[in-house]
Amino acid sequence: MSNRQTNTDVILIGAGIMSATLGSLLKELMPDWNITVLERRATAGEESSNEWNNAGTGHSSLCELNYTVEKPDGSIDISKAIKVNEEYQVSRQFWSYLVNSNLIRNPQDFIVPVPHMSFVQGEQDVSFLRKRFKALEHNPLFDGMEYSEDPAKLKEWIPLMMKDRNVNQPIAATRIESGTDVNFGALTRILFDHLKSENVDIKFNHNVDDIKRASDGTWELKVRDVASGKVERQTAKFVFIGGGGGSLHLLQKSGIPEGKGIGGFPVSGLFMVCQNPEVVAQHRAKVYGQAPVGAPPMSVPHLDTRVIDKKESLFFGPFAGFSPKFLKFGSMFDLSSSVKGHNLVTMMAAGVKNVSLTTYLIKQVMLSKEKRMEALREFVPNANSEDWELLVAGQRVQIIKDTAAGKGTLQFGTEVISAADGSIAALLGASPGASTAVSVMLEVIKKCFPTHINEWEPKIKEMIPSYGVSLLKNPELIRQHQLSTARALGLSEKVSLQASH
Ligand SMILES: Cc1cc2nc3c(=O)[nH]c(=O)nc-3n(C[C@H](O)[C@H](O)[C@H](O)COP(=O)(O)OP(=O)(O)OC[C@H]3O[C@@H](n4cnc5c(N)ncnc54)[C@H](O)[C@@H]3O)c2cc1C
Repeated sequence: MSNRQTNTDVILIGAGIMSATLGSLLKELMPDWNITVLERRATAGEESSNEWNNAGTGHSSLCELNYTVEKPDGSIDISKAIKVNEEYQVSRQFWSYLVNSNLIRNPQDFIVPVPHMSFVQGEQDVSFLRKRFKALEHNPLFDGMEYSEDPAKLKEWIPLMMKDRNVNQPIAATRIESGTDVNFGALTRILFDHLKSENVDIKFNHNVDDIKRASDGTWELKVRDVASGKVERQTAKFVFIGGGGGSLHLLQKSGIPEGKGIGGFPVSGLFMVCQNPEVVAQHRAKVYGQAPVGAPPMSVPHLDTRVIDKKESLFFGPFAGFSPKFLKFGSMFDLSSSVKGHNLVTMMAAGVKNVSLTTYLIKQVMLSKEKRMEALREFVPNANSEDWELLVAGQRVQIIKDTAAGKGTLQFGTEVISAADGSIAALLGASPGASTAVSVMLEVIKKCFPTHINEWEPKIKEMIPSYGVSLLKNPELIRQHQLSTARALGLSEKVSLQASH
């Protein structure tokens, strides 16, 4: 290791949406702090946050059926849907603050209105969707949601999906205009441009090879310039490990006890993409269906209008798959090298428990294009193979840990793991993902800066007016925020009006 050493207040590892969000929050709270970003790739947002690597859904439970679960008594549990929706409102408020303060511009480059829909077929799923709609329709967070079982209405809403469809079983859909498509890659790059203008030191092509605690309690990082191979040391009082799939290895290297016993299970993703303008013009919605039996929740099929660089395309998927890599640009040894003495038993237990999931994922990897077209034709009956191309999306690393549910439990959410003294934190897991970045980074701030949080509260409330308030208990506040954020972010007037009645 070279002797060159740089000291800073904060190091953010990884230039994805999470580091971009945390850096932007901290710059507002502590403008004088020195922040350094270390990213192994040549630009920001090349991994999961990239627009071609995720589905770009502003997750707010307007269409995702897996956030509402049918209880044994037949009623619908909407608690997760409410949580995810409230978290998205927090993101919208922070993005609006940045726009209104002229810290970022042109929100239409990263967020556009696209209706969110759920679509089901068959008696059982129609009955579920009807009950889900009844449970949500009078909830102010889901204001404006419509439901229909009428094929003629559905034809109006989703002509491409209804064309040539043989309607020989019950069919139903919900639709809500206030859904969004978010280009998280563009947002990530916009936030890093903003951070650069605020003198944040962003080092691309710099890989963090190791992290250890220095004798004075700060963190010392071994950083390698991937072009020259030159190694230097960077020290910081606070480190955020925002390495996406790469976070688990870095957390393990830090050696903090809170990171012990945790493993990771990689799930890869594939989309079918259509850029034929004639086909694209026939569909404008994000339409989520039910997950096939045995599929993990992140492979719920959906047909999405995407708006990338002002051009519309359709994404269908994601098809899940298995690859031992933890990052799209990762190594085939990522999974094996993440198995350590402290998580071996947990990983083995998970391996035994999840044989069927692994088999399902491997079978998914082996699917031919025609087999994938068959799944797509459930959504677009007359889809032509020539219009659709396969696209490799990002990797997600699911958390494996021992929980009350047993040893080696696979988890599908995200979790902030931090040292007891708050000097280092890592974000593991990937769902609901980028949409909830602001809430998750506020959690990092609360956990890691407990002595500052009271002093910071007024500024946090200025940035996120609903901070500390349950939106659900304040329906008037929901309407106000939906209206003001729709205006700031340039979302349609129709959406704003809907929110205001
Ligand atoms: C198929 C798929 C669909 C998705 N759909 C949605 C969706 O519709 N809506 C939604 O909200 N979310 C979605 N997500 C989740 C969302 O994309 C992620 O939660 C989010 O992008 C994660 O951001 P991040 O900053 O944590 O990680 P990333 O964007 O992966 O960034 C991590 C960065 O860290 C860098 N890095 C890693 N290790 C090192 C190291 N040692 N040194 C230096 N740099 C390092 C990487 O190069 C990378 O740039 C989806 C994800 C996938 C895979």
